[in-house]
Amino acid sequence: MDHPTNGRRELLARLPKVELHCHLLGTIRQPTMAAIAAKNRARTTREAIEQFYVRGEKPVGVLHIFRELETHILANTEDFYRIAYEYGESIAPHTVRYAEVFWNPTGTLKQTHLSYPELQGAILRGFSDAEHDFGVTCRLIPSIDRQASASEAVEMVQLVIVNRDANVIGIGMDYNEVDRPPELFTEAYALAKRHGLKATTHAGEFGMPWTNVETALTQLRVDRIDHGYTVLDNPELTARCAELSILFTVVPSNSYYLRTLTPEQWAIQHPIRHMARAGLQIHPNTDDPAFHLINPTQCWERMVTDFGYGLSDLRDFMCNGLSGAWIDEEMRRRWLREWTVEFDDLVAEAVVGVDRDDGESNTAEMNM
Ligand SMILES: [Zn+2]
Repeated sequence: MDHPTNGRRELLARLPKVELHCHLLGTIRQPTMAAIAAKNRARTTREAIEQFYVRGEKPVGVLHIFRELETHILANTEDFYRIAYEYGESIAPHTVRYAEVFWNPTGTLKQTHLSYPELQGAILRGFSDAEHDFGVTCRLIPSIDRQASASEAVEMVQLVIVNRDANVIGIGMDYNEVDRPPELFTEAYALAKRHGLKATTHAGEFGMPWTNVETALTQLRVDRIDHGYTVLDNPELTARCAELSILFTVVPSNSYYLRTLTPEQWAIQHPIRHMARAGLQIHPNTDDPAFHLINPTQCWERMVTDFGYGLSDLRDFMCNGLSGAWIDEEMRRRWLREWTVEFDDLVAEAVVGVDRDDGESNTAEMNM
């Protein structure tokens, strides 16, 4: 009898959500990538593209796919328009109503003849048309490529400032954190902050130390942290982040722990299981949904199935997302008010529905 799972999944699909940690290049559908590669006569073979969408038990991560996209596949503004539009289309059925999406300009600017304003404009047009057609709001977070130089990071921030658009709300930083700690990018973050941009960074990913989380907060003065799992290695820092209500955008499908933990360890040791229980504000995200083979509903479901969280936790996560989103205060207050009512109504309706169908055992399942 698979009804409880279906009921839970339907409920999770209908819960109103934000998404705060998703990379534009991590959202490209396989047919879209194949079509763009063929159109641009990319060297990337159809077989290579198929392999990008195979997720093994011990996934190697997705950064090499991003480099292939930047270097050999994406070549025109229409490519960026299409992936931005399709992302908006893809999240609408999961009741994601608002998303803040990362995009690294540096690699594409180096590898193509496209300019920053052309690229930013194409992505924002894709978001705008998706909002019109599907009712989802997407905002852009240009991100520092931390494997490039500190001066290139400053240049990236300057481009954001010179081409300032109300739909470009802050900066992030990603790519490989190993040997690229946050302090290398202090100047770029200071520049962004001086110009009123919000800021976040990937930190404590790939098993990198808790000191990267602390440096990001104290030196880069970020408003939130992406991943941040190793914060748990320092209880004092964990308590401070809890006290300050720092939001951690976590990724249940993150490759690093799939590679390094056995299934038995996963159930007990995975940091996401412990972060909210340690008082941290967390919010689940898909990161690279096309390559993690996950959608927002499945992402939220993993918080239940993999990490043992229940409905009241999911309600907290929903509110955490709104608290940490870079939206104006009036909208935040309104959405917090409306979404909590909606959440409670959906849960009540789901429990009543299950009661009617299958009796008590499924009510317990609904309580998660
Ligand atoms: Zn990420």
